[in-house]
Amino acid sequence: MFIMSEDSQRTQGRDAQSSNIMAGKAVAESVRTTLGPRGMDKMLVDSGGDVVITNDGATILNEMDIEHPAAQMIVEVSDSQEEEVGDGTTTAAVLAGNLLGEAEDLIEQDVHATTIVEGYHEAADIALEAIAEQVNEADVDDEILRQVAESSMTGKGTGGLTAASLAETVVEAIRHVDTDAGVARDNVTVHTQIGASSNATELVPGIIVDEEPAHDGMPSEVEDASIAILDVELGVRTGDVDAEYAIDSIDQLNAAIDAEEGELEGYAETVAESGADVVFTTEDVNDRVANALANEGVLVFEGLGDSDARQVASATGARRVGDLDDLEESDFGSADRIHTETYGDDDLAFVEGGAAAETVTVFVRGGTEHIVDELERAIGDALDVVATALESGEVVPGAGATEIAIADKIREEAAGIEGRKQLAVTAFADAVDIIPRTLAANTGRDPIDVLVDLRAAHESEGRAGLITSGDEVTIDDPFEHGVVDPADVKREAVESATEAATMIARIDDVIAAE
Ligand code: ADP
Ligand code: MG
Repeated sequence: MFIMSEDSQRTQGRDAQSSNIMAGKAVAESVRTTLGPRGMDKMLVDSGGDVVITNDGATILNEMDIEHPAAQMIVEVSDSQEEEVGDGTTTAAVLAGNLLGEAEDLIEQDVHATTIVEGYHEAADIALEAIAEQVNEADVDDEILRQVAESSMTGKGTGGLTAASLAETVVEAIRHVDTDAGVARDNVTVHTQIGASSNATELVPGIIVDEEPAHDGMPSEVEDASIAILDVELGVRTGDVDAEYAIDSIDQLNAAIDAEEGELEGYAETVAESGADVVFTTEDVNDRVANALANEGVLVFEGLGDSDARQVASATGARRVGDLDDLEESDFGSADRIHTETYGDDDLAFVEGGAAAETVTVFVRGGTEHIVDELERAIGDALDVVATALESGEVVPGAGATEIAIADKIREEAAGIEGRKQLAVTAFADAVDIIPRTLAANTGRDPIDVLVDLRAAHESEGRAGLITSGDEVTIDDPFEHGVVDPADVKREAVESATEAATMIARIDDVIAAE
């Protein structure tokens, strides 16, 4: 008896498990070589020939266009990592893949999937305790925040800029939006502009929009600006002209032209008399209106995108106005300075010192699109980790040290766990070893030797990582070398990797519709 369509595909039992596990492992394997300061980049070319060069785990996995459903779940691990804490995407995917690899071995030894799931969850709890034990005792100050930023950026394509000087900019940006109510991370934006060396990357005290003045005669700079944001077209709709006038004499034509001019002048007058000296509108501005406003010294930007309009509104406190007759001074926002600059073919408007919100923009410069794109990703990660570390006040040693501590604690506690579950708990520790092993492999070291040395150093010193500094690779306390990650990045990686691996391991029946 058939209960499913004949076209649907069904895989059951061990076959289903191993095909899912293999797919998950393959995905994780694909980003392994990018991990850490000596991780390599990937070049991804899509069917349209567009090229992305990146070291970022989440970006790679999303660009790869993965179809296998179990593999997709690993991609989701790195996506949720990106979403929650902004960094550690490669770590989370690699860990998930290795948890699956270990699960495969256990299944071969006839350990039941539910035992594996239980063991993994217990091990994950121990891992969280180990992370808590590794948390710094000192307060997270600017120095530590810079280290967090730098650790997340070393090895990323930071162009001519060293991670150290970028880290400075990132911390300054986050400090700017740090309020009593927490870090307003959304008030930091990144704007990229091709054309200069990445050394020209700077912090702008406000927001940047891709806009040019609506008329050449307008001022390129306005100080103490009163800002109006309109969703109004300042012009006569062409369609209306034909419809309204039936012209059969020269007098009527003149009257029509006068009426149109009068309407346009009316717009310009209303705007000029409102007292606004800078106007952003999401609609078009007629040339004659622009000319008249230019003569009044008003700076106008037309055809603003909706998200830019919202950004300007929230930074300056302006209320968007949909009908010119309703325009009142109480709708205006204000900013210390608005100025426009030209970069090659691009015009940018800078809105600085908006009255309503402390906003800052990291103005990223770079020679080519690939450079600014990768810088944007690296800086985005760094902003996230600094915000995370500042909010929680908790950082842990990087360079594999926290993972060594996790594996060590799990093995220690596994001894007290009964039955086959002990095998699963120990397997979790073996999976966590992948992080220091991969850091070793990516620096050209023998993973086994490094693991042995790290464990010994951890035993005697309590903290031991494989530190990369310039050309040197040493085993030492990462805190001493400023290699630190937010505790939340490690927690999230453990939790999301465990969740995905246990979910995949439990599946023993795959039914796919054609
Ligand atoms: P992820 O996507 O997981 O963040 P990364 O490629 O950014 O992957 O690598 C992060 C890992 O690199 C972390 O474990 C971090 O502690 C480690 N790391 C960062 N800087 C150094 C360094 N100077 N030496 C050794 N390890 C480092
Ligand atoms: Mg990272």
